[in-house]
Amino acid sequence: MILISKLAASVQPSATLAAGAKAKQMKAAGIRVFDFSIGEPDFPTPQHICDAADKAMAAGHTHYTPVNGIPELKAAICRWYKRYHQFDITPDMVIVSNGAKHSIHNTLSATLNPGDEVVIPAPYWVSYSDLVAMTGAVPVIVPTTAASGFKMSPAQLKAAITPRTKLLMINSPNNPTGTVYSREELLALADVILETNVSVLSDEIYEQLVYGTAKPTCFAALKPELRERTITISGASKSYAMTGWRMGWAIAVKPLVDAMGNVQSQQTSCPSSVSQYALLAALDGPQECVEEMRKQFEVRRNLVYDKLSKIPGVTFPKTEGAFYVFFDVSSYFGKTISGVKITDSFSFSKACLENAHVNLVPGSAFGAEGFVRMSYASANSELEEGTDALAKWLATAS
Ligand code: PMP
Ligand code: GLU
Repeated sequence: MILISKLAASVQPSATLAAGAKAKQMKAAGIRVFDFSIGEPDFPTPQHICDAADKAMAAGHTHYTPVNGIPELKAAICRWYKRYHQFDITPDMVIVSNGAKHSIHNTLSATLNPGDEVVIPAPYWVSYSDLVAMTGAVPVIVPTTAASGFKMSPAQLKAAITPRTKLLMINSPNNPTGTVYSREELLALADVILETNVSVLSDEIYEQLVYGTAKPTCFAALKPELRERTITISGASKSYAMTGWRMGWAIAVKPLVDAMGNVQSQQTSCPSSVSQYALLAALDGPQECVEEMRKQFEVRRNLVYDKLSKIPGVTFPKTEGAFYVFFDVSSYFGKTISGVKITDSFSFSKACLENAHVNLVPGSAFGAEGFVRMSYASANSELEEGTDALAKWLATAS
């Protein structure tokens, strides 16, 4: 019997992916499930992007590429940053990987030593704490509240930093809360960072999905001094509905990008060749498809807010990004619903899936007990019927 390593034994399966898998099993057994678990756009990848992949295959672009990505794509990423964020970068500051999750893993592998501390405001995306722990570094979780719109204050950041702090991981627009920090709020956090030696991993993967008056901010572009110590992460999964193509990237100073390239060359050789050509078409091609999807997400967000706000005991701040609502269900803890005593966000989500057939992810997976996450990347009819099913189920609580 082969013994599992301490590293692998310590890693939890991704709670979002696990929740999605459970719903798929129920669906396969013929049960209708309202699956609001995985954060994945339900839209097809736009046709011109798929066509570019077909063309790349026909042209024989089906082999290894340079480790950090093809030059045309790195140049397109530089153009995109200039256009979208007025941020001037050079191709040697870009490394393309197999999804932004991979980019984050490469960044952490190339920057952290065992015992280093990484400040992570909670609620945070499920994978952050595990990815940090896999390097032997220590996640330092800073809880935020719904009352503050789930934003970490400069004072909280300052208090969390110790001589061992290496990185701050920040994610705006945020998964799971939808929170978008304003430029001023990020500048205030940057001021704290610039008084220290701490670097910043800024995960901006939802940057094109903002609503109302919210504007995305590229942290590295806020001040010239931040360029040296910020790793910007983004990718194609969310804005271009390209989750399965596995395309993400990191922007950082050349020595760090080179180090990440060395890690990547030993791990995966290079990102997928065909997907790189698809991403090139996504970034250089027409952007109306992004705006069209964004508009539909905004309609869905308003629909879900309207429905959820009518459910007694359910509360949430109205946030302006990504495609998630993170709502407080703690008023149901201690109650019995469909014969099950609800004690925490895990038992709530489990009972909700098994009895109401509505699939939500427990807040505990995001470092915030008392809440559940709903992804609204589903058709309007699903969202309407699913929130009705949730309301009906909760109305039976006693
Ligand atoms: N960061 C955040 C905040 C996310 O929600 C996701 C979702 N998967 C990722 C990174 C990784 O995305 P991907 O690996 O699909 O590019
Ligand atoms: N980021 C998405 C989510 O939070 C996709 C699943 C994952 O990669 O964990 O649901």
